[in-house]
Amino acid sequence: MGEHMKSYDLFIDNEWVKSKKGEEQDVINPANEQAIARIQKGGRDDVRAAIDAARTAFDSGPWPRMPPASRAELIMKLARIVEENMLRYGEIELQNTGKAVKQVVDYDIAYTIDNLRFFAGATRLIEGIAAKEYVQDGTSMLRREPVGVVAAITPWNYPLMMVGWRAIPAIAAGNTVVVKPASYTPLTALEMANAVKKAGIPKGVFNVVTGSGAAVGEELARSESVDMVAFTGSNEVGKRISSLASDSVKRLSLELGGKAPFIVFDDADLEAATEGAVVGGLINNGQDCGAATRIYVQEGVFDKFRKLMVEKLSRVRVGDPTNPKTDLGPMISKEQKTKVMDYIEIGKKEADILYEGGTSGLEKGFFLRPALFSTENNKARIVQEEIFGPVPVLLRFKTYDEVIEKANDVLYGLASSVWTRDLRTAMMAARDLRFGTVWVNDHAPIPSEMPWSPMKKSGYGASTSKYSLEEFTTVKHVYVDLTGQARKSWYYQIYGDQPSE
Ligand code: NAP
Ligand code: MG
Repeated sequence: MGEHMKSYDLFIDNEWVKSKKGEEQDVINPANEQAIARIQKGGRDDVRAAIDAARTAFDSGPWPRMPPASRAELIMKLARIVEENMLRYGEIELQNTGKAVKQVVDYDIAYTIDNLRFFAGATRLIEGIAAKEYVQDGTSMLRREPVGVVAAITPWNYPLMMVGWRAIPAIAAGNTVVVKPASYTPLTALEMANAVKKAGIPKGVFNVVTGSGAAVGEELARSESVDMVAFTGSNEVGKRISSLASDSVKRLSLELGGKAPFIVFDDADLEAATEGAVVGGLINNGQDCGAATRIYVQEGVFDKFRKLMVEKLSRVRVGDPTNPKTDLGPMISKEQKTKVMDYIEIGKKEADILYEGGTSGLEKGFFLRPALFSTENNKARIVQEEIFGPVPVLLRFKTYDEVIEKANDVLYGLASSVWTRDLRTAMMAARDLRFGTVWVNDHAPIPSEMPWSPMKKSGYGASTSKYSLEEFTTVKHVYVDLTGQARKSWYYQIYGDQPSE
């Protein structure tokens, strides 16, 4: 452990505190396997303290009761602080995840700032149906209320961005949150806590408890004092959380795994489609729930597409993430690298390997070069299972109906793309694909205004957009009698006689 290594405490009630048991752990840089920071290994008692702080802030603090404009102003301030510290956050995220410098600053951090600004503005626009006399002589109206205490449990692949997706809409809507970041990548969530305090967001609104999923995550899912869990992560953990959460009847928003199809028709611009396939397949080193993993190419252009894609893959530069000329850094962890290498071995048994970059030649770090497979078997494991690494598969198809059926034949339903110059084909695919996002002639953009909304076993709910904000609210009906009568005209249904006209 280096002398100057930064250490972080837990952030509870706007204070930095040590874990009650006094346990700590190192955070590792996956590019060189060196410890870069120490964090608290929080336990059940710590998370209970954070839940209590969030509960009090929700039940009697100013945050849920503030005019939306006041909350918006504080979240805007938070956005400004993150923006002022963009390079520093980028540096921390880079060291913690091994993402290439150009991705981490220009995309991950910049996008989170945009999310913050969007939710700050959007919270002022929460609305519902008009007040109206819908029945009898009474006026009905809606109140949209925050849900309460929200647990935001986030994955390691986009550490700050997932705080932006799960915790920020929650607080924008007037909830209070306890964030449990992934153990590999807790640092930018903790930095965000610093920014929250600086922005003047009241105590108890945004808490961060680091520690294991089994201790901190499960306590959040079980706690009677937590009203909702917003979880992004694997299906396995999502199912565990939903079973734990059922006893206390919590609201859930689950964003789980993906296995996105990428469909190229004969009439597509092949230069564009192959650029898109490399980018979509390798985005975040393939550690992306929306990554293009199943690349269906129509028979007329299959060979040409394959040649172009292999040629482009061979130009991808894997290496030191701090170098601006690096395209791909390491995988997040040794565990993840091993998982992906195991899938490459499985792929070699069930499919043809078209391109294998092999290992990087770098001594330290969890580096791995991308691989590309091809198979006719839609049921192959590498076609059906989430690998979460740079390992796309090419599949040949003949007809529209065939490819839609194959593309939909997967557990997941998060994202998909179609590549064609024909408007009708694109619009039919947009209708027929059972995925929460369909891109046409691109693969990956998620504007803050649009929902990232899973189907099938990828979960339910929405991240980003006003629909996400709505998820973190609940509707309340308020009905006001206008008759002023003691006996309303319908009371006879319960007792007494029907009034005569
Ligand atoms: P993960 O293993 O499911 O972990 C996600 C979070 O859950 C982490 O904070 C983890 O804590 C915590 N956790 C682990 N076990 C838990 C338990 N028993 N109870 C409560 N919480 C627990 O996922 P990951 O490996 O970090 O991320 C990769 C997965 O995320 C992939 O499947 C990917 O598709 C999915 N993902 C989905 C989206 C989307 O938008 N749908 C976006 C990004 C990622 P620890 O880190 O301490 O184990
Ligand atoms: Mg995990």
